[in-house]
Amino acid sequence: MNKALDRSLIKRLLEADCEDPLASTDQLTSQEIPPGVDRRTFLMRSAVGGAAAVMMGHSISAQERTAKALATLPQASSPKPPLAADLNVVKKGQGPVLTTADEFYKVGPGPSSSHTIGPMRITYDFYQRATKLPADKLARATKLQVNLFGSLSATGKGHGTERAALAGLVGNEPATVDPKFLDSLRDKPDQTFPVKLGDKSINVSLKDIIYDATKGDFKHPNTMTVKVLAGDEVLLEQEYYSVGGGFIEWKGYTPPKKNPPKYPFRLMKELRAHADNNKISIAKVILANEMSIAGRTEAEVYAFIDKIINAMVATVKSGLSMPEDDVLPGPIKLHSKAATVYKRAMDDRYAADKGIGALSAFALAASEENGRGHLVITAPTGGSAGVMPALVYGLLEIRKLDRQKVREGMLAALAIGYLCKHHATLSAAEGGCQAEIGVASSMAAALTATAYDAESRVVENAAESALEHHLGMTCDPVAGYVQVPCIERCAFGAVKAWTAYAIASNEIASRHRVDFDATVMALAETAKDMNSKYKETSEAGLALSVTLC
Ligand code: SF4
Repeated sequence: MNKALDRSLIKRLLEADCEDPLASTDQLTSQEIPPGVDRRTFLMRSAVGGAAAVMMGHSISAQERTAKALATLPQASSPKPPLAADLNVVKKGQGPVLTTADEFYKVGPGPSSSHTIGPMRITYDFYQRATKLPADKLARATKLQVNLFGSLSATGKGHGTERAALAGLVGNEPATVDPKFLDSLRDKPDQTFPVKLGDKSINVSLKDIIYDATKGDFKHPNTMTVKVLAGDEVLLEQEYYSVGGGFIEWKGYTPPKKNPPKYPFRLMKELRAHADNNKISIAKVILANEMSIAGRTEAEVYAFIDKIINAMVATVKSGLSMPEDDVLPGPIKLHSKAATVYKRAMDDRYAADKGIGALSAFALAASEENGRGHLVITAPTGGSAGVMPALVYGLLEIRKLDRQKVREGMLAALAIGYLCKHHATLSAAEGGCQAEIGVASSMAAALTATAYDAESRVVENAAESALEHHLGMTCDPVAGYVQVPCIERCAFGAVKAWTAYAIASNEIASRHRVDFDATVMALAETAKDMNSKYKETSEAGLALSVTLC
């Protein structure tokens, strides 16, 4: 501290000692914690208020301090209701893993799979149902209405949920929607669009997407309803849930019937046993299951994986090509940094620094594309959409690995995502950021290890390590926008994935003490215990401590 400042502060403190604020601790500690407020937050704010007053040369009574602390306390959030037990996404871990690649890797507009891809799939689904109403009902329809609840309402504005919901309602699907259409909804929010229902068409606009109650007795934090109305009369209504990673369910949902997998597994232990007993890789086990569950040929599975690889490479390239002074949409006014980081990293003196800088830049590039609402790939979610593409791009475009190796890495990564979904969650609204970036990093570690021909134990160890070191990570996006901390966090997720692979491939694999299944259980338990304020509500953490000017 500057000496002059130091002395003047001491002087003011001494002057303030006319009524020495430290003489009686009664005046320093508030007597009672007011009912209904968080004790720790209240005490911190009360103490900060008292200290600030002393530094400014004032004395402040405990009563005044209490009033000030209360006035600046964040709105208390009521705990989220527990997830309804009958949701399919809650019935974790029952039976073998049956998820398939096309359900998991989804191309769609950012910035959040649960807040954009899920809602767009929901309204698109509803539109298909509505067109099947009897002709006499369709003839009476006057309005389509979407109501958003819970986290969709609390943070939907920052994610552009209303634009995604409207885009689905007017017949767009996430994988093929033109991001320019979504941008135009942002730039010209008053536009109306005709929706064809039977012989008539109904005009819809963003006014038909309603941000409804943020708290309530919902089956899932991301609940929404969609209706066809005739005046006040409801002709058709469906309640939906966007359950994470772009997956959706609805009231009365039953999962589609699937064929049994060739190699049934519920745990990594069982998956690895199939691989080791049959002398094949984890990737080959997943390939065989994809073929048996979905009834696809090997060529069809790889064609889909290629489509996803190409989309990942495209999202990194597109992000890197953005101008260095580009500013992302939203109130944070966050400058894009991917191109700058990449360019400067290339000038680094040491190869290792270059590598880390470039990998970070690839993740920043894809994640910034997500922040722009452009097309990204859920791996497992939109918020984490920078992690896997960074490794895919690095392995294919920089290391020039054989494409088949990367394809197999993508299959092994699926196994990690499937297991996390099966036993824990991929949704930040359920489990915080550990469920998004943590799972993405773990998938990326498995991808890298597989692409480098690591044995199954090393693949498991790398994935375990990456997930382990994200446990407990909260979701607290500033201003509800998937930008801070999300964009840089993708870079860290990518670098941690590489680190996990580096450790796993250099350690003695059999001495790795924590198995992947144990860490997934820890992910599930930590998700359950995490304070609901840290689950994508923007009511705590960075969302509170960062002030936007
Ligand atoms: S903090 Fe993590 S989980 Fe939350 S929106 Fe950002 S990336 Fe997603």
